[in-house]
Amino acid sequence: MVEDKYDVIVVGAGLGGIRAVHSFDEAGFKVVGLEAAAGPGGVWYWNRYPGARCDVESFDYSYGFSKELEQQWRWSERYATQPEILRYVDHVMERFELAPLFRFNTRVESLTWDDNRAEWTVVTEQGRELVGTHVVMATGQLSTTKAPQVEGVDDFEGRILHTGEWPHEEVDFSGKSVGIIGTGSSGVQLIPIVARAADDLLVFQRTPTFTVPANNRPISDEEDARIKADYESRRETARMSPSGLGFDPGKVSALEVSDEEFRARMEEQYAVAGFGFALAYRDLLIDQDANDRAAAFLRDKIREKVDNPDLAEKLTPRGYPFGAKRPAVDSGYYEAFNRDNVHLVDISEAPIERITATGIVAGGIEHELDIIVFATGFDALTGSLLRPTITGRGGVTLREKWSVGPVTYLGLGTHGFPNLFIICGPGSPSVLANVLLGIEQHVDWLVELLVAARKDDVTQIEVTAIAEKEWVEHVNQRAEETLYPKAASWYLGAEVPGKPRVFMPYSGGIRGYRRICNQVADAGYQGFALTRPDADSAAS
Ligand code: FAD
Ligand code: NAP
Repeated sequence: MVEDKYDVIVVGAGLGGIRAVHSFDEAGFKVVGLEAAAGPGGVWYWNRYPGARCDVESFDYSYGFSKELEQQWRWSERYATQPEILRYVDHVMERFELAPLFRFNTRVESLTWDDNRAEWTVVTEQGRELVGTHVVMATGQLSTTKAPQVEGVDDFEGRILHTGEWPHEEVDFSGKSVGIIGTGSSGVQLIPIVARAADDLLVFQRTPTFTVPANNRPISDEEDARIKADYESRRETARMSPSGLGFDPGKVSALEVSDEEFRARMEEQYAVAGFGFALAYRDLLIDQDANDRAAAFLRDKIREKVDNPDLAEKLTPRGYPFGAKRPAVDSGYYEAFNRDNVHLVDISEAPIERITATGIVAGGIEHELDIIVFATGFDALTGSLLRPTITGRGGVTLREKWSVGPVTYLGLGTHGFPNLFIICGPGSPSVLANVLLGIEQHVDWLVELLVAARKDDVTQIEVTAIAEKEWVEHVNQRAEETLYPKAASWYLGAEVPGKPRVFMPYSGGIRGYRRICNQVADAGYQGFALTRPDADSAAS
């Protein structure tokens, strides 16, 4: 059954989809948002594990499009918890009356382009058809969970959980033996809390991670008032910084300073900075020697915090640069390992062999457990884009087109898939910057594009093959200038066996990226073919 036609169909009701639906609606487009979950929030809907919170400061990890919202919302902590972010999402939905524009419990299964009619047919898992002139994929970067295919997993008689699909009710760990697999950002946030609640906690670690302390704290009325008095300049600082965070990155090379000066600066950063630690010097993420100094500093910190030197060594990351895998921001992670009820199971050399009815077997030893938590992450960046079948011009699917890795122009679209746009997708700064800032930049830019197209009677907007090729080369070149490709990370597709190894996000910084997007728009949307029904391509 074909339902109403829409100007824009937005897939996803995370912070990206919400902003997109609101802004397209404001610009006078007939828009609908389709969301698989029962409610809005995206990652903040799904990742309800204890300890989940943002690691970009709340003041910066929030929408900037409404001064009233900005002024009236009161964040309670420097890094808001998942429940607080979800309350913010609910507030935004209510304040801007967005719920009627969304359909929840509505997973999109397929999207098919009709070249003659210049429109997309979107089919949901309930078999409903919707037709849209444009589709915006706000399906997220970290929204398709991944759990290792371990033999025997269905035999386990206890409870299995995934951090990215956490139940809505509280999980009671008391009196339980809990196994957590994975020590990325999710595991690092969860472990200290389960350590306090459970009888026994076994942490199954394959790769030690670099962490920096969150230095979380409540936001006082004085701080709240001070920031809100000049919020715009903080936003502007964020927009004008490569990372999109509300402070200036260091401008000095780590190699230009003495050991003493370096250590003093790092101590200062370690005590206050949170995620910004990596930006203390301008070259920590681009120069191996500079990076080695920061990595050595962090390794010393692990030795200081973990009482047992052998355990400290096992928790110490080696063999890849600090920051090349996304560092975790922790609150008492290492200290948790000083507890008698917390045990590290090093599976780097003796991987998990199987799961039994009563536990996990690794290195020939069976560890008895009541609860197993997969903190094993996501099929990142492309997982949710490739899960539905997206069929573009000439019957080619996105899966076929991206079989050797994602190719996009500006991360916003891909050749052969007209009128299909992506929010914070591969090829854009996305997860290498404050994602919320990227979301707002993308949405504002796309709204302007569709308003211009509407005015000029353009019915098809398609990335050109040449623009896409050149952008992919540029993304690769910028990545090569950094240390990012030196780690087997999810940025690179290493998190899923067999996934193409391509460095996916744009590492040129959100400031430079914004400048490029603006230049593209000013040049009449250079790199996009704009087609009117009665004329050939208007631009390319
Ligand atoms: P998402 O929030 O992932 O929302 C996508 C939505 O699309 C989901 O609700 C999903 O159900 C839906 N969807 C997907 N496919 C379909 C389909 N086929 N049909 C219908 N619906 C579909 N970034 C930061 O910058 N700072 C942080 O502090 C930070 N913390 C994070 C913490 C966690 C635990 C995680 C997992 C990620 C974090 N991120 C952070 C990255 C995060 O991805 C972004 O900040 C941001 O929330 C992404 O919003 P989004 O709307 O683009 O995607
Ligand atoms: P992740 O960073 O991909 O970490 C997954 C962990 O599971 C890694 O330690 C990984 O080890 C391990 N793992 C994966 N497959 C395994 C297997 N088969 N056997 C054993 N171990 C396995 O995932 P995440 O922790 O969920 O975080 C993903 C991203 O979400 C973060 O990088 C961040 O961008 C975002 N996030 C942010 C926050 C925050 O602080 N705001 C919190 C959570 C998540 P290997 O390293 O060896 O692969």
